[in-house]
Amino acid sequence: MSATTCGCLGGGQLGRMLALAGHTLGLRFVFWDNNPEAPAGELGKLLVGHYSDPDILQRFAASIDFATYEFENVPVDTAQFLAQRVPVMPPPAALEVSQERLHEKALFRKLDIPTPAHAAIETRRDLTRAADRVGLPAVLKTRRFGYDGKGQIVLKKRSDLRGAWDALGGVPLILEKHVPFDREVSVLAVRDRRGRRAFYPLIENHHRDGILRLSLAPAPALSPRLQTMAEDYATRVLDALEYTGVLAIEFFEYKGKLLANEMAPRVHNSGHWTIEGAETSQFENHMRAIAGLPLGSTSALGHSAMLNLIGTLPETAEILAVPGAHLHLYGKRPGPKRKLGHITVTAATSQERDKTVAVLRAVLSTNKDKL
Ligand code: AMP
Repeated sequence: MSATTCGCLGGGQLGRMLALAGHTLGLRFVFWDNNPEAPAGELGKLLVGHYSDPDILQRFAASIDFATYEFENVPVDTAQFLAQRVPVMPPPAALEVSQERLHEKALFRKLDIPTPAHAAIETRRDLTRAADRVGLPAVLKTRRFGYDGKGQIVLKKRSDLRGAWDALGGVPLILEKHVPFDREVSVLAVRDRRGRRAFYPLIENHHRDGILRLSLAPAPALSPRLQTMAEDYATRVLDALEYTGVLAIEFFEYKGKLLANEMAPRVHNSGHWTIEGAETSQFENHMRAIAGLPLGSTSALGHSAMLNLIGTLPETAEILAVPGAHLHLYGKRPGPKRKLGHITVTAATSQERDKTVAVLRAVLSTNKDKL
């Protein structure tokens, strides 16, 4: 009997970690990426070319049993075409919604999931009106192709409007109320092919310059009420989209409420701690879900932290010399703002975890791109 083969649109570090988990389940992988140096290429067959190349699409579809994707900017048309040939999970509709911030917010609103106040912006006049309606401070964002804080500007006063329009205007935009949040959290949910769901404990996330730097899981002082609220919101999205696989939703926690910021229809950076810190990792559970296998337990094993390695890499030996630290390198060339790897810390108590994080920060502080 030949092995089941998963096709993955995108061959970045998320694809690489999906393959590392999928291999233990006996799955094979074919990746499709426009970068010949895609980090997942070492762990499966890599087809290189643009995502709308019809020849690659034929070859890709013919060599796989089902498909998934590991980043959101895959053309929806490609995913839809592929879905006529093999099962594509999560469904292309999830991809479509997550590619456009306004559609994403509309879905949240339709499902009664609170979001920051916002307005659609197409013209300079829209921006002036929206600034009155939404109020300042606010964040002006491109609706498409924004990630890691790219394509967004914080507007503090009226005089900031002109410069922001000059910088971002001309493409569809969204103006969002700037939320003075208490903290940022994310929920990772997974739904299998039969509709059964599981949820990881909420994660507390710390960003700098729009890029995730540190995640703590379970989120400190996590109340059952907040966990239930996040699971309830995630359930609405999973069921509305008839979703299969892992879904991440990022929230602002503000005055005891959760306001949805955005969703990712894939495994997520804030879930990397699950490799060592949960009974079943997000990567394994995504593979289990889409391969039609039973889901594994999402329970946390103690207290974890995840530190992203951005821009430059530390000495491997120095990191591994820290007890409780686990290093993951993605095989990427260093470059400004590039996510090159991460470190997971696992500990029996949150105090012990925080101590190890402080030691690692000291080691990493020699890095140019400090945490
Ligand atoms: P995003 O690309 O939407 O995830 O934004 C990147 C980061 O910018 C978020 O993780 C927040 O730290 C910050 N941010 C984005 N939108 C808002 C907002 N409406 N209010 C406050 N902070 C925001």
